[in-house]
Amino acid sequence: MNIISPSFRLDGEVAVVTGASRGIGAALAVGLAQAGADVALIARGDTAPVAAEIASAGRRSSQVTADLGESGNSEAILAQVAAELGRPSVLINNAGIIRRADFVDMTREDWREVLAVNLDSVFELSQAFVRGSLAAGGTSRIIHIASMLSFQGGIRVASYTAAKSALLGLTRAMANELASQGINVNAIAPGYIATDNTAALRADAGRNQAILERIPAGRWGDPSDLVGAAVFLASPAAAYVHGAVLPVDGGWLAR
Ligand code: NAP
Repeated sequence: MNIISPSFRLDGEVAVVTGASRGIGAALAVGLAQAGADVALIARGDTAPVAAEIASAGRRSSQVTADLGESGNSEAILAQVAAELGRPSVLINNAGIIRRADFVDMTREDWREVLAVNLDSVFELSQAFVRGSLAAGGTSRIIHIASMLSFQGGIRVASYTAAKSALLGLTRAMANELASQGINVNAIAPGYIATDNTAALRADAGRNQAILERIPAGRWGDPSDLVGAAVFLASPAAAYVHGAVLPVDGGWLAR
């Protein structure tokens, strides 16, 4: 048997990471840079500290200010990336928001805003990215950041659960159509990770305790816990991985 050791390096790749100003996206952006990629940082807020860390890793970055809650800016985002770093070959759809309310009280605004950022923008940016990739030829990779609520219902987060559950369907639908065209589409499902997104849960002593007791690993995840999975799925080592969802959850789903 002739097995060549697969490459987990990202040298020469240009990766786009949405929601790269903080939390999981910031960690993924720095992790991809440390694996060799140049990285475009998409967010509404300040990405300069993340850009500085990427520079420390010896890689280039592009800071793109964009509101992914708005429709119609995908082509402009990718054009700026291409102008500053070259054509992107990796897209990580990470940007996401959450709104907490009892289902009976959830407003249409809380529903629409979450769907717009967590799902609509993924569709639009992925479509623009895929069009560019198909036109250029070669291989490229898309990673969606899903959730435990891609599998479970959650509590008081109906719009978020709807979006994250749909994201897994989208992952599979895209993978089926794009696998034969050199584009890998996969998802990572983070468990409970200590970021702004989960600050309200950690501030609630009862919820915090209940969550911790249910996590086999016995601790909240750190954004850096997601880096290995992202580098793998972005790398040539994942060339035959299509339509998969990789939980990084301290064992939550196994429970
Ligand atoms: P976070 O710390 O709140 O960061 C969210 C990121 O998304 C920020 O960089 C934010 O940047 C960006 N973002 C939000 N709205 C945006 C918009 N309209 N346009 C552009 N960027 C926007 O959250 P996180 O925990 O790192 O979450 C990252 C992803 O992981 C999300 O998809 C989330 O659903 C998912 N996730 C998180 C957990 C968890 O336990 N933390 C678990 C499962 C899945 P700006 O505010 O600067 O725009």
